[in-house]
Amino acid sequence: MLVRNYVGGAWREASSSETLAVRNPASGEEIARVPLSGGADIDAAVQAAKAAFPSWRATPATERARVLFRLKALLEENKEDLARQLTIEHGKVIAETRGEVQRGIENVEHACGIPALMMGDTVEEISRGIDCASWRQPMGVFSIITPYNFPVMIPLWFWPYAVATGNTVVLKPSEQDPLTHQKIVALAEQAGLPPGVLNVVHGGQETVEAICDHPDIVGVSFVGSSHVAKIVYTRATAAGKRAQTLGGAKNYLIVLPDADMDVTLDACASSIFGSTGQRCLAGSVVVGVGDAHAKIRERLMDAASSLRVGDGLEPTTDMGPVISGVHRDRVNAFIDQGVADGAKLSLDGRSPSVAGLEGGYWVGPTVFEDVTPGMSIGTEEVFGPVASINRAKDVDEAIAMMHASRYGNACSIFTTSGGAARDFRYQAGISMIGVNIGVAAPMAFFPFGGSKGSFFGDLKAAGRDAISFYTEQRVVISRWSAVPSDPHRVTKP
Ligand code: NAD
Repeated sequence: MLVRNYVGGAWREASSSETLAVRNPASGEEIARVPLSGGADIDAAVQAAKAAFPSWRATPATERARVLFRLKALLEENKEDLARQLTIEHGKVIAETRGEVQRGIENVEHACGIPALMMGDTVEEISRGIDCASWRQPMGVFSIITPYNFPVMIPLWFWPYAVATGNTVVLKPSEQDPLTHQKIVALAEQAGLPPGVLNVVHGGQETVEAICDHPDIVGVSFVGSSHVAKIVYTRATAAGKRAQTLGGAKNYLIVLPDADMDVTLDACASSIFGSTGQRCLAGSVVVGVGDAHAKIRERLMDAASSLRVGDGLEPTTDMGPVISGVHRDRVNAFIDQGVADGAKLSLDGRSPSVAGLEGGYWVGPTVFEDVTPGMSIGTEEVFGPVASINRAKDVDEAIAMMHASRYGNACSIFTTSGGAARDFRYQAGISMIGVNIGVAAPMAFFPFGGSKGSFFGDLKAAGRDAISFYTEQRVVISRWSAVPSDPHRVTKP
């Protein structure tokens, strides 16, 4: 099956004949081919989006919201089908894909509130006889470029807000798992989204470059690795666009001696090994402070060794495959390098065997200790089920280790002390902070995005930031009578 682009309300083959395989990562079997669209395909989608903009912008906000209400209902009806398709093309276990679809739906729900979310501000009599009001207006064609690890939820962090505010969109999903979002686009069409409001163009680097350079795209939302996030931010802003580009991570989980160790273990284990470590919010460095180190170490080693790796559609599976053979080899290369650098490999997940699925892309739970500053296993984003367990003498030392990282996506503290949690929030310097939570994921109503090398831009995804990112404010300053003694004016009390 060849994946098609969606342009101006029609499913079309890309002009390029170059394609890549989409595979089921649990078996390695090819399930589709995705085109590597070029500049001509992007231009066709931009022209369709541009043509649709005037009438979509003129569609009342309440009517735009009603399309999203219908989409929300359709997503609910099709939730199980979407979750199964997602497990087949991504590999994560079915409970996780159900959760991902739900998180995506929550963004559609939030965007349904657009008539209230888009309200401007007014001040009467800001000066003598003068009123001031601000209006939020859509800007035109936005483009959204997304990664492979949440192919349902991450596009839904963006496009529902972009279209709810009256813009039109060109979406470029990950080329590694584009199939489930195709179903969502078909549901959006069924919900009544007019042709040209949402367009989809599949491809890779060349497609993204054409987006960054296209003069009729006003802004770009991007999620992916930090290396590419920085390239896209630089190239899109140099071309005069708005940009918000979310990058990679190396997240710290700091455990204090007074933590509830059962809660902490559950949170840390699911943070590190959930989605096979392929989450931008995945914990990858556990720091046990003082006595906490031995306690969390022992529990985490037990939990990691007992995880069952296999097909995500099997209800007994705890952890699915990684996305591809290339990515499995990359994760294994990080593990090899950690060993070569002298870190202690306490649990080795290289090449686990999964009976009957020998063609799948497997990496088992992996734990390192004695990781010193400068080792790549402790500093680089591995994006697999690999953790390091470090020891700190006190919380200041633990925070200093975290601050040494160039990333700053998320971090968590585990403690029963409100004061320690409050101090941590003050000191962390990282945007997404968990307190006794291992995956510090803000829900749709709050901004999602990191700091330092994990984020380029200022306005984050979702929350109120999404409304600001996709609109421009017009401020209207009005004076209706220059003469205070005008006989037509009502006398002021
Ligand atoms: P990636 O950077 O390889 O790809 C992301 C997107 O960019 C894809 O659509 C891809 O086609 C495109 N792309 C890839 N290389 C490119 C290049 N050289 N030039 C232009 N475009 C290019 O990321 P991925 O492997 O799909 O996703 C995993 C990464 O995403 C991890 O680093 C993860 O931390 C990050 N991520 C971050 C967040 C966040 O909220 N900060 C959320 C999810 C994932």
